[in-house]
Amino acid sequence: MSSSLARNRDDITRCSICGKAPVGAELPRIVCRRCDTLAFNDAAHPAAVGPGGESGDNPVYIDAKQCWRIYGLGGYVTMLDVNNCRDLEEFCRLNKLAPPPENF
Ligand SMILES: [Zn+2]
Repeated sequence: MSSSLARNRDDITRCSICGKAPVGAELPRIVCRRCDTLAFNDAAHPAAVGPGGESGDNPVYIDAKQCWRIYGLGGYVTMLDVNNCRDLEEFCRLNKLAPPPENF
């Protein structure tokens, strides 16, 4: 029981900020929802999200670390930026992500 639990733990991708909460592995360095609520924008205000989560601030800063959000239908995903990218396009390129649509 305990050994299988330990093996499973190693398979789980954890939040890039707190290192605790399990997150999806479909995108690089995902930030969990709890850490995401601590995000600030460029103006040092709590990061805002538009109606439906389809647009909002970018980049955002969590624990003084730069992160980028990919907004889309049904919400958004926040990812830690370890390359200090200048914009979302560069972040997507360096992380081999599909560039976000200009107008959604
Ligand atoms: Zn977290």
